[in-house]
Amino acid sequence: MRFASLGSGSKGNATLIEVDETCVLLDCGFTLAETERRLSLLECPPESISAILVTHEHGDHSAGVGRLSRKYRLPVWLTVGTYHACKDNDFAATHFIDTLTAFEIPPLHVQPFPVPHDAREPCQFVFSNGTHRLGVLTDVGSITPCIIEHLNGVDALLLECNYDDAQLKSGSYPYGLKKRVAGNYGHLDNQQSRHILDRIDTQNLQHLVGMHVSEKNNQTDQVMKVLSSVNSARSIDIRIATQESGFFWKKIL
Ligand SMILES: [Zn+2]
Ligand SMILES: [Zn+2]
Repeated sequence: MRFASLGSGSKGNATLIEVDETCVLLDCGFTLAETERRLSLLECPPESISAILVTHEHGDHSAGVGRLSRKYRLPVWLTVGTYHACKDNDFAATHFIDTLTAFEIPPLHVQPFPVPHDAREPCQFVFSNGTHRLGVLTDVGSITPCIIEHLNGVDALLLECNYDDAQLKSGSYPYGLKKRVAGNYGHLDNQQSRHILDRIDTQNLQHLVGMHVSEKNNQTDQVMKVLSSVNSARSIDIRIATQESGFFWKKIL
């Protein structure tokens, strides 16, 4: 099982998860041309994608899904709420998912879970090949027991580290936007991300990636400090996904 990112942040998100011949694209917030360009950098032809999964309707996750789905006849998996809230939901094929019901895109086992975020019916995912589990958590305003339960013991974790609280407060965002980002339905700050790492079992963790890092309200050294605080006996590959190029393929062994 391996995974890669086309880019991560408020200007666009897309992640690839691959097991054998099955390759799933999680979210697509880039234009069609930009998605094709970034997929080619990851040596992933769009025709080889098996399905697109969408976490929620915000443009940085969904803006490119419709056109990509139509051009390459890719089926889209998402909640009914996300489907109705997507501006362009004229997909080649649509599969509705429930935020707590696991499903298969063989041989990939996909477990969604609901998250508090200011979207219609958002969810995040844990992917499994039967041996290893990859957890993805971005666009989350507050930590719930359900999130902790699902991410417990994962082998790889893509974890939102959106903002530094002091930097957001003293920064240039208008008051309303600061309130939205820091609210219970906004994004995770560095301390909340640290709190998640403290609360889940990290003994299996091989890869830890900081995701959706704000370009205005955070610093990479602060994020690295949080990620490096993870408690584990083994050595963990720790990195930050960038807006420009995400990160190249990482393999879970
Ligand atoms: Zn987002
Ligand atoms: Zn969002």
